Amino acid sequence: MRTAAIVLSAGRGTRMQSDIPKQYMLLNEKPVLYYSLKAFQDSSVSTIILVTGKEDVEFCRNEIVEKYNITKVSAIVPGGKERYHSVYEGLKQLSDYDYVLIHDGARPCVEIDTIERSIQAAVEEEACVVGMPVKDTIKVSDENGFAVATPDRSTLWMIQTPQSFSYPLIDQAYRELMERLDKEPQNVPSITDDAMVAEYIFGKKVKLIPGSYMNIKITTPEDIRVAEGFLKKLEKL
Ligand code: C5P
Repeated sequence: MRTAAIVLSAGRGTRMQSDIPKQYMLLNEKPVLYYSLKAFQDSSVSTIILVTGKEDVEFCRNEIVEKYNITKVSAIVPGGKERYHSVYEGLKQLSDYDYVLIHDGARPCVEIDTIERSIQAAVEEEACVVGMPVKDTIKVSDENGFAVATPDRSTLWMIQTPQSFSYPLIDQAYRELMERLDKEPQNVPSITDDAMVAEYIFGKKVKLIPGSYMNIKITTPEDIRVAEGFLKKLEKL
């Protein structure tokens, strides 16, 4: 069984209010992205495709992949404008794989156990995403900032990565998504994760499996301190 991971690091992250994209900020002197890559290096995946900003390819090669000996990285490629463009660029690097895991490079606290359980679920269900039940009540807002609905909390999950798939399924789904975006962009919904692509294109039922509340996405400045705490707890710092 051949499993690949695509690690995404091509976002610029305006919510961080920093000149350095969040995935390159330092946690105990190593970039956030190092920890994300290291988790996949230590897992059973056979190859890692790293997708970065065009201007960051050399930095990633020299200062992360080679410096920390992340030997499973087989390609470092520039991403695109939206997250789904970056995923598509990653998928183009692969052929003849059985499963692919797609992971946000900005989630450095991902655990190897989560990665292995995601692979297993992809084998069983073809499409699987990691997430956790929401803790807070979620409300839907109208355009004026008034609550218009309160979905039943017991059915709501916040979705994380990795998102894992049968490779032929997600590869085909992304190809068709790109065709539709070319032909009729006004009819395509806003795509915020990979599971949506499988759901939207093929009506695929995607399995939700529990990840960890520690698997946060570094998004705003305070997340750096929180991730440091979690990495210490996980004995990765
Ligand atoms: O922007 P957001 O927080 O949703 O990004 C999630 C992950 O996707 C990050 O690791 C980011 O670097 C990556 N991304 C990307 N290409 C984009 C936008 C985001 O690789 N165009």
